[in-house]
Amino acid sequence: MKKLLCLIGHPVKHSVSPSMHNKAFETLKMNYVYLSFDVYPGNLDDAVKGLKAIDVRGFNVTIPYKEEVIGYLDHVDLIARRVGAVNTVVNSSNSLIGYNTDVEGVETTLRLNSIKLYDEEIVVLGAGGAARAAVFTFLSHSPRRVTIINRTFEKAKEVAREFNPEICRPEPLTRKSIQESLKNAYLLVNATPVGMKPGEDASLIGKDLLNPDLTVFDMIYNPLKTKLLSYAEEIGAKTVNGVDMLVGQGAASFKLWTGVNPPFKLMRKTVLEELKTSGQFEGES
Ligand code: NAP
Repeated sequence: MKKLLCLIGHPVKHSVSPSMHNKAFETLKMNYVYLSFDVYPGNLDDAVKGLKAIDVRGFNVTIPYKEEVIGYLDHVDLIARRVGAVNTVVNSSNSLIGYNTDVEGVETTLRLNSIKLYDEEIVVLGAGGAARAAVFTFLSHSPRRVTIINRTFEKAKEVAREFNPEICRPEPLTRKSIQESLKNAYLLVNATPVGMKPGEDASLIGKDLLNPDLTVFDMIYNPLKTKLLSYAEEIGAKTVNGVDMLVGQGAASFKLWTGVNPPFKLMRKTVLEELKTSGQFEGES
């Protein structure tokens, strides 16, 4: 009998995670199958209890449940607790253990794109779960400053206070704060859904605020080239999309569930093929 893995979230209809994992399982001839389940608001408790009752090997959690799911788990590892969000759960002898592999997704992105953060200034747009995973990861690289710009200023303040108030500086989402923060920045990160399909014509930052010395990392992978990345490319800045992060977090989850080294290149190729062929949708990991 195949062991079950799955994704829970809302919506999950267009997720590329099932293709990414199932291709890896088929190729390595592993006895697992990965499905996705749309869990409607109010049903998370029942969904997690059900998954435990049927003894799944594990599951991924995506928007909007990465924080809420913590309340239904038996243990949460230190990094996930620090980040305040769980995207991967392992069922170990009927005990549900939560992890955050988005942190490894960000780390993978830095490594594959030769992004070195020591003594550099970083600007992060957003203060949600993905931004928190990014700030957590960036701080381990000893940057000079991490500016967190968020629409709800209070949340930016909270992240800065919680992670490292000496290095992190919260800012409200205004043209002036963006302009000031980007002056000496090396890395700009979009950790908001602004620019994601079907809203691909939007960007929180206009072309006039970017400069060629910047590296721009947009966590969005659908579309592969967001408006923000198009602007960055046009002015000659380095651009990085969300694919390496998506595959990095997926590969780390794969290893946690199976103990087997993930076929990273195959998973990345599968994701790119899927995104290029399926085209027009709004998707989550
Ligand atoms: P989240 O927890 O819901 O946080 C969303 C953040 O975006 C919040 O800071 C929110 O600001 C801000 N935001 C939302 N709509 C906005 C708007 N119209 N204008 C300005 N700010 C806006 O979501 P998340 O989990 O952090 O995910 C954020 C993005 O990262 C998504 O696009 C997701 O697809 C992407 N992501 C990618 C990967 C990957 O593997 N590549 C992994 C995780 C996430 P407020 O606080 O004001 O609401």
